[in-house]
Amino acid sequence: MVDQQPGPSFKKIYKPVRLMRIRRTLPPAAAPIYMNNIINGITGIFRGQKEIERFRAELKNYFGVKHCFLVSSGKTALTIILQALHELHPNRDEVLIPAFTCYSVPSAIVRAGLKVKLCDVSPETFDFDFNQLEELLTSEKKESEYGSTCSRLLAILPTHLFGLPSDITKVKNLLPDPVITIVEDAAQAMGGEFQSKKLGTLGDIGFFSLGRGKVFSTVEGGIIVTDNESLAEKIKTITDNLPDYTISETLKLIIQSFIITVFQYPCLFWFPKAFPFLKLGETIFDPEFKMRKITGFQAGMARNWEKAVPHFQKKRKSHISSLTDFLCSKHKKCVIIGKSPTHFIRLPVLIKDKKIRTALLLESDSKGYGLMPSYPNSINNIQELAFPSACHFSVAENLSRDLITLPVHPLLNLMDLKNISTLFNNN
Ligand SMILES: *Cc1c(COP(=O)(O)O)cnc(C)c1O
Repeated sequence: MVDQQPGPSFKKIYKPVRLMRIRRTLPPAAAPIYMNNIINGITGIFRGQKEIERFRAELKNYFGVKHCFLVSSGKTALTIILQALHELHPNRDEVLIPAFTCYSVPSAIVRAGLKVKLCDVSPETFDFDFNQLEELLTSEKKESEYGSTCSRLLAILPTHLFGLPSDITKVKNLLPDPVITIVEDAAQAMGGEFQSKKLGTLGDIGFFSLGRGKVFSTVEGGIIVTDNESLAEKIKTITDNLPDYTISETLKLIIQSFIITVFQYPCLFWFPKAFPFLKLGETIFDPEFKMRKITGFQAGMARNWEKAVPHFQKKRKSHISSLTDFLCSKHKKCVIIGKSPTHFIRLPVLIKDKKIRTALLLESDSKGYGLMPSYPNSINNIQELAFPSACHFSVAENLSRDLITLPVHPLLNLMDLKNISTLFNNN
């Protein structure tokens, strides 16, 4: 059927092909959840607050921070950070983020009642385009020096996309005003380091995600870490007032954890992948997400995270190095991002040639190799945000088109790595 369409674009044919293919199918990203985690989770429900305090104490100790807060997701964490900041600086309402990032980030900014401001990114590092950042921040400075209108910039979000460290020192040095808070988006970088400092602790405040496709997962969850006293005080009040998960929400969490434990494995992942309504790995802009305190179930599931995180990262690292060795030596059509890639949760690879990219994605989709495009668009192209159509962020726009990501998660085996390499050889 597909072959009969004249020159079909990738998007047109990629989506409707949802045949149930019963074969080994790789999830694009995964932080494995085991039966053990679920048992610890259920014990955690009974231990309740004690279990949550245990997790919190471990995190504070590991990150060497004075304050840590636990909530239902990374976007909840970010929303709360921004609400607290806005209470401290009510006349500032803009948040500067990279134009190429997870849609949860603008969702959280809008949820906090604030405005999204964008800076383009560097195609080599996914970090800010520092020339553009400097221009943006210099014009901020001029605005605040002249006239009555003071600068409206509340916070800036350096982001460790896919786990690749953003240069926070550089961001710090460019800031015209210390009131502008550095909120470190370490959602994809738990356990990562930059210049032997822990990612998430380099800015004024940082957050992590415990969502499904991240470094380590408790189905869903979010962590905030900071040493800033006034900010921590505000955040404590806001999190104390968050609702608890209802009983049915907790039950849903437990059922989800069972489903993941069973179907995360490549030998069964074809099953959930065959059902579009499960919305696996879909990137959506939606500020109406639920905001909750974390449950004892999630805190219990996280038991032994200090062993699991480096263990998962070691496996990812070894998969990354086999794939990059192969791609660098044999495949000249693609560009590996990052100089010495180690801590990626998915391996980003730039493929400029549309034909090759489409062929790779289609073949991967039919063979279950887990290759995926990255984010569907740059943030300025999210319609709900209503950016003027004349406003462009060319690198971010190109990345959303040209970037594909390869699975590197702990559930891959040698044959999978070989299959992916063969796929690249043949296209
Ligand atoms: C996943 C993610 C978030 C949000 O985390 P959730 O737990 O999914 O809400 C924020 N920023 C980045 C860069 C992410 O990848």
